[in-house]
Amino acid sequence: MTFDDIKGNEKIFAGLKRAALTGNVAHAYIIEGDAGVQKDMVAKAFAKAILCREKRGAGCDECVICNKIEHDNHEDIFYVRKDGNSIKDENMSALQERLKNKPLGERNIAIVEDADTMTLRAQNRILKTLEEPPSGTVIILLSENTESLIPTILSRCAVIRLAHTEDIEDAESAETAKRVADSLIDGKPFVEIKKMLSSVSENKDKAYAFLDALEHFYGNMAVRDDEASRNYPKEYIYSRVGDIEEARRDLKRNAVTGYVIKSFVLKAMN
Ligand SMILES: [Zn+2]
Repeated sequence: MTFDDIKGNEKIFAGLKRAALTGNVAHAYIIEGDAGVQKDMVAKAFAKAILCREKRGAGCDECVICNKIEHDNHEDIFYVRKDGNSIKDENMSALQERLKNKPLGERNIAIVEDADTMTLRAQNRILKTLEEPPSGTVIILLSENTESLIPTILSRCAVIRLAHTEDIEDAESAETAKRVADSLIDGKPFVEIKKMLSSVSENKDKAYAFLDALEHFYGNMAVRDDEASRNYPKEYIYSRVGDIEEARRDLKRNAVTGYVIKSFVLKAMN
């Protein structure tokens, strides 16, 4: 799993990749994101981008280094995880001891999961390390909520805020809706459009999100007056919005999701 395999947050990842590529990596990061966002995957992808020698700045996901990172057994990466409900002073003390060892490779990287559960003593201890970081060390704090971290920690770290899962999904639905709408108007064959709809047809929530995004797209085309919107005659838009309404009703009636989406497309193609 590299950055390319993680959905959303492309701009943030581009920044992290660039830092890894140029070696211009901060000594500490806080990666903040809600519970649904896989922050540990982001941390691993970043570690690969930093340490992989085959594909610096991205990670090849195939070499020995990337494989060790993937399986949590890279010698230079140290994980701190919750001890019961919190990360305690002694967990941080162990981290400090560990960071005294020189890395076997290029850098030591510490990944602190659930950093927002650090006790105040643990936070004050890690703060000392953040104030005088061992050279070359990268400390990555993963957190759902930076409000529980003391401000002095925040001020010592580069804070990366990942987009909420729903925002990522909304962006995906909007992208799919645009592609499908354009393909329909361009008269693309059904097999081609069908390919775009596999994730949309996975479950009802995704299907509703897609229909909402598509309606939003058509609504936008109806009020705009530019080159793109001229491809969409008003009557065409009204028919599609009607079809979308019907698809929603079918979903509510518990028709099979894939079937509802498919019949929507077939109707729109006529
Ligand atoms: Zn690699």
